[in-house]
Amino acid sequence: MLKTFKLGGVHPAENKFSADKAIEKLALPKSVFIPVAQHIGAPAQALVKKGDQVKVGQVIAKAGGFVSANIHSSVSGTVTKVDLATDASGYPKQGIFIEVAGDEWEECIVTDETLVERFEADSKTIIDKINEAGIVGLGGATFPTHVKLMPPPGSKAEMLIINGVECEPYLTADHRLMLEKGPELLVGIRLLMCALSVNKAYIGIENNKKDAIESLKKLCASDASIEVVPLKVKYPQGGEKQLIKAVTGREVPSGALPIAVGAVVSNVGTAFAVYEAVQKNKPLIERVVTVTGKSLSKPSNFLVRIGTPANELVEAAGGLPEDTGKIISGGPMMGKAVASLDIPVTKGTSGILIMPDPDAKRKTSQNCIRCGRCVTVCPMGLEPFLLMTVSEKQIWERAEKDCIMDCIECGSCSFTCPADRPLLDYIRLGKGKVGQIIRSRKK
Ligand code: SF4
Ligand code: SF4
Repeated sequence: MLKTFKLGGVHPAENKFSADKAIEKLALPKSVFIPVAQHIGAPAQALVKKGDQVKVGQVIAKAGGFVSANIHSSVSGTVTKVDLATDASGYPKQGIFIEVAGDEWEECIVTDETLVERFEADSKTIIDKINEAGIVGLGGATFPTHVKLMPPPGSKAEMLIINGVECEPYLTADHRLMLEKGPELLVGIRLLMCALSVNKAYIGIENNKKDAIESLKKLCASDASIEVVPLKVKYPQGGEKQLIKAVTGREVPSGALPIAVGAVVSNVGTAFAVYEAVQKNKPLIERVVTVTGKSLSKPSNFLVRIGTPANELVEAAGGLPEDTGKIISGGPMMGKAVASLDIPVTKGTSGILIMPDPDAKRKTSQNCIRCGRCVTVCPMGLEPFLLMTVSEKQIWERAEKDCIMDCIECGSCSFTCPADRPLLDYIRLGKGKVGQIIRSRKK
């Protein structure tokens, strides 16, 4: 019997149109906009100004604190300005505009694709390299990886869990990476294990990616320290707490981090970036992005330089269909609707999804019929209908007491509600307010 998490979960239609599309290198853009905040934590501080010449891999913004990440140029050319522009958040963000000229890389980066398996680096050296390379969680959470690898005093990592679940419908970037870059991925996993000083790693993969499961099982057949764990298909299994529960049976308590149960979770894309940073000296300047949608003529998985405008990806995938009703950065469950394709690919961009008009239309919200379905599917054991009501009425004390901050924003409640109530929209609003209140208390 396949493992999975126990509490809640839903089964959205998968629509993985790009699952058999090999990763293609996207042509270099003419210009890029690279935001200085592409991670959770303090924005990085720009080191360049208008007129500066930059090379691929050059640090152009330095981490602005402990929880922060360096930003590197993904192209070579001239900095045209350091200014504000809108990113996928819908808000103007400071970033660096670069006009592309050629493709000149920093000399220290190894650009050939030969597999480098051997490494002698110790834990500190690996963490330092990851820090320098600006690696963040590529699953979408964008938490700086070097911070995750340094558990707080009093806690100790016992195992590494690699997230190859990719439970968001439509997305296939991680699936393709596992199929096409398995050997590199395993080196990345060994590097992360060494950084954490653990001798066990699990790769959790949902059972709808049987080819990736088979391929990685074969690759680590002779290494008992890395185990592939096929999981039952259920959304949101890619949530850290759900994945830990599915793979190990351990339960992360409310308000606690995975390290509380001895686990550190990293996405497959992150493990691959770690391989490139440590073995090839390559900072995080590109990532795999799924570009997909029912009406798109060529759903694809592209290897894209950070800062590339999203419209270039959509053009390469056949152009924007006429029936487009909504554009989403990320997947349909956790992604964010964006107003235009004039936004850059950032470290956290896992996909661009084009929804046709009929599928994108919001249905009118009806009165709650107290069916309790939202409660049944909530993987965090919350009462979404109640959290929506208290957020609507701005009763923040009650929202906090009812653990609104535990919500992982998976959208399962909204997905399942027969009255089409915008539960997650209100819960997100409530989380924002309660988060502010909690932070102001700590000051
Ligand atoms: S309340 Fe949050 S965690 Fe629970 S189902 Fe809704 S979005 Fe997911
Ligand atoms: S699923 Fe919708 S209708 Fe049912 S209890 Fe929750 S909010 Fe109310």
